[in-house]
Amino acid sequence: MTLMIFLYGMIIGSFLNVCIWRVPRGESIIFPPSHCPNCNTRLKLYDLVPVLSYISTGGKCRYCFNQISTQYPLVEVANGLLYLLIFHKYGFSIDSLIYCLLGSLLLVIGIVDYYSQIIPNEFIITGFGILLILNIKSYTTEPSLLLSGVVGLIIAGGFFLFIAIITAGGMGGGDIKLMAMLGLWLGWKLVLLVMLLSFVLGALGSLILISLKIKGRKDYIPFGPFIGIATLLTVLYGDDIINLYIDFALKGFLS
Ligand SMILES: [Zn+2]
Repeated sequence: MTLMIFLYGMIIGSFLNVCIWRVPRGESIIFPPSHCPNCNTRLKLYDLVPVLSYISTGGKCRYCFNQISTQYPLVEVANGLLYLLIFHKYGFSIDSLIYCLLGSLLLVIGIVDYYSQIIPNEFIITGFGILLILNIKSYTTEPSLLLSGVVGLIIAGGFFLFIAIITAGGMGGGDIKLMAMLGLWLGWKLVLLVMLLSFVLGALGSLILISLKIKGRKDYIPFGPFIGIATLLTVLYGDDIINLYIDFALKGFLS
């Protein structure tokens, strides 16, 4: 079973690679079918087997021998692992489905934002779309869920808008929209944790990127990847993090 979920995640990961390449370039993700970006040869089914096809050709296009980025197999493996972690925590449930979709979306957003410093509106609209379709029933039977989401949207979107204004563009419009979407998706409690974690991770990450000289001191460091990682940590370990925090706070209060 574990293997099935991992394989399934990798197959979806292969589709995510298509989205990562095409959406920022304004290309359709359905047509034309997968082709090598260098020689335009249409890829056959056996060229599309996640990771294995990459290994079997030594990371080159089978037709023009152009080197293919290691990003392709890495995204496939990452998405496979992501689905495993989510299923391990939430089992066979609608939550697992929702979080797998969210996780994949954030993986795509994080990589696109890292390389091109934009979060295309298509991704945000997709996120809102998935959320509304999957949650419409719970929203009508459990209005408190919708209320928590709307409050989350206002808090998270509003706070990032506020930062964008006081830093005069230090935070992009994409980040604001992404946080608003996550607020609605996760509700106000969890999105507060996402905000906190994303700032901690952003500070640590920037420090690491600058000290490894991957980014210069004056370079713009995209925030989307940190929001993505913070969300995944919250979805997977949010309860534990909150309990740990309450434990610490209580101990400090009692001693
Ligand atoms: Zn080729």
